[in-house]
Amino acid sequence: MAPSGSRSIKRGCQRVLYWIPVLFIALIVAWSYYAYVLQLCIESIEDTGEKVVYLLVYHVIFIMFVWAYWQTIFTKPMNPLKEFHLSHSDKELLEREDRGESQQEILRRIAKDLPIYTRTNSGAIRFCDRCQLLKPDRCHHCSVCDKCILKMDHHCPWVNNCVGFANYKFFMLFLLYSLLYCLFITATDLQYFIKFWTAGGRAHFRLKEYLNGLPDTQAKFHILFLFFSASMFSVSLASLFIYHCWLVCKNRSTLEAVRSPVFRHGTDKNGFSLGFSKNFRQVFGDEVKYWPIPVFSSLGDGCSFPTCLVNLDPEQPSSPTGSNPANKSAAEGRQFPSKPLRESQSRLLTSTPSWSENETATDKDRKGASNPGMTIENEA
Ligand SMILES: [Zn+2]
Ligand SMILES: [Zn+2]
Repeated sequence: MAPSGSRSIKRGCQRVLYWIPVLFIALIVAWSYYAYVLQLCIESIEDTGEKVVYLLVYHVIFIMFVWAYWQTIFTKPMNPLKEFHLSHSDKELLEREDRGESQQEILRRIAKDLPIYTRTNSGAIRFCDRCQLLKPDRCHHCSVCDKCILKMDHHCPWVNNCVGFANYKFFMLFLLYSLLYCLFITATDLQYFIKFWTAGGRAHFRLKEYLNGLPDTQAKFHILFLFFSASMFSVSLASLFIYHCWLVCKNRSTLEAVRSPVFRHGTDKNGFSLGFSKNFRQVFGDEVKYWPIPVFSSLGDGCSFPTCLVNLDPEQPSSPTGSNPANKSAAEGRQFPSKPLRESQSRLLTSTPSWSENETATDKDRKGASNPGMTIENEA
C-alpha cells in the first residue's frame, strides 16, 4: 500500500508544480493590467481622447487574449476513440504472444479496419503500451499527461496542457492575441517611455510630482518596466507565432516538423498537407466569423486525417481519407468510421481545389521506402 500512496503524493506534488508557469504568466498579466490601465492611462496620460482610445483598444485585445489563454489551458485534450483501443480478447491474445512478429500480426489485423496510414520508423503498427491502443495517425503518447493525445503538437508548460487537436486553434489565437497585446503596449508606451527615459517630461506628464517625490517615481518604474517586458515578449512571441503559422500552412505538428511522419511507402513530411487553404481550414474551420474567436471550429474528428497519399498505397483499405476528388467513390465504400463523417470533414475532403501544388510537393519530398520491421513502438 505504502509505495502506491507515496506515488500518489508525488504525483499530487507534481501536479501542483506544473501550475507554477501558468501562475507566473497570470501574475505578469495582472501586473501589466495594473501598470497599463492605472499607471499609464489613468495616472500619466492627460489627454482624454488618447486615454479613452487606448483603454478601449487595450481592453478588446486583453479580453481576447485572456479568453484564448483560458481555452488553451482548460480544454481537455482529445484521446483516441474506443475503436482504437484493444478489446479484452485482443489484449489477452497479445499478452500470450511474446514474439514481436506475432504481436505485429495481431496488431496489423486490428489496424486493417481502422484509418491508420502511418507507421513507426521500422514500418511497424504504432501501438501504445501504456494506453493499450493503436495510435491513430498524428496521435502521440504524452508522458506528462500520461495519455495518448490526438494530433499532439507538444506539451506546453506555459499552459500546463497538451496542445493538440482539441485546442490547437486556441493555442494559435493565444499566440496571436498575446503578440498583439505586447505590440500594442510597446507601441503606445513608447512615447512615455522615451519621455521618462530622457527625463524631459513635458506637457503630458506630471513632472512636478515626478521630481518632487514618490508617486511618479512609481509610475516611472511601471512605465519603463512595462516597455521592456512587452517589447521582449513581443520578440519571442513573434518568432513562435511565425513558426506556428508556417506549421499551419504546411499542415504539420511540431512533433512532425521534428520527425516526419512515416507512411507505408516511406517518410513524407508533407503527407498531411492539402494545400494552404485546406490546411488553414483544417485548423480554423470553414466559417470566417469563427476564425478570430476561441471557440472550437476545427474540421475533422482528430482520429483520421485526409492525406493525399492514400491512393498511392495499394495496400490501404478503402477509406474516408481519399482526398483526391477522383477517389471519392472509393471513399464511399469505407469501413470506418461506422458513423458518417461530420459534415465539416466531408466538406474538407470533397470540395475541389487545385491539387497541383500539393502533388508536386509530395513527389519532391517523398523519400526512402519503409522497412517492414516488427517492433512495437512505445514512445512513452
Ligand atoms: Zn498512450
Ligand atoms: Zn501532455
